[in-house]
Amino acid sequence: MSVAKSVQDVDERDRRAASEAMVVVPNGPGLYEVHSGETNTYVVDIVGGACECADSRYRDAHCKHARRVEMAIGEREIPAGVRVDPTLRLRRGGN
Ligand SMILES: [Zn+2]
Repeated sequence: MSVAKSVQDVDERDRRAASEAMVVVPNGPGLYEVHSGETNTYVVDIVGGACECADSRYRDAHCKHARRVEMAIGEREIPAGVRVDPTLRLRRGGN
């Protein structure tokens, strides 16, 4: 077994946060709407680290939506070797 950091070692939530199609829209101080898929919208409180999704509410996880917001605003590194959602690249470049 190798201990070297590789693509396989990227946290699964980080990978999904970077690669899945999501749109982040600012929604007040410290608040962001994350539009995921066709119908789902979650409000992320980036200061409190809370999100409306089940992953955050029931499993107390640092969910992919919160991670995506952090990536979109430049507070979280986008993992290497991940196929990044073009929307995330756009926002990083545009802002
Ligand atoms: Zn969430």
